[in-house]
Amino acid sequence: MKHTLPKLPYLKTALQPFLSEEAVTVHYEKHHRTYVDKLNKALEGEQKYKDLSLEELISQAPLNGGIFNAASQTWNHTFFWQSVSPNSEYHVLEKSALYKQINDTFGSCEKMLDKFKETALSQFGSGWVWLFKNKTNALDICSTSNAESIIRDNKQPLLICDVWEHAYYIDYQNDRAGYLDAFFDHIDWQFVENNYNAS
Ligand code: MN
Repeated sequence: MKHTLPKLPYLKTALQPFLSEEAVTVHYEKHHRTYVDKLNKALEGEQKYKDLSLEELISQAPLNGGIFNAASQTWNHTFFWQSVSPNSEYHVLEKSALYKQINDTFGSCEKMLDKFKETALSQFGSGWVWLFKNKTNALDICSTSNAESIIRDNKQPLLICDVWEHAYYIDYQNDRAGYLDAFFDHIDWQFVENNYNAS
């Protein structure tokens, strides 16, 4: 099975000024595409893995090996592009069951995002920040390093943010906090809500 680069759900100019066309182009066309290409290359001749889905590869391939890293980075980037939107509709969240659980868990949505930001800023080096539902349906936030994935721990991702420097350096240089603030204004709450309801 050949893995392909999924189409972006919007134009490359659509996320401005959160992300410039140049930033989206480099991140999507170079970084994301390279992970897909590396995955297909790593799977050549790998009978055991060649027909597995991305999720199965993430769960089953040896941790930090070439297949795992490329599969996880491919999945994470696709989920990241889906996590943001040119039309971030907060009112969608306010009507949802997820909203109630966010309030019950974190105190408010603002406090949830404060924790998300704090987690992003304390992630040393490259990685990802996640809002997720765990096995007992509780909500939580965590970060992972490099290509590590919470899918391996049977956690259900609801929202992801890429905190590899390549995700924000073009538009924000080293200002990860500024990137996070703009990310919060572009969360696709309908996507988050759908993920919450699907699990
Ligand atoms: Mn990235």
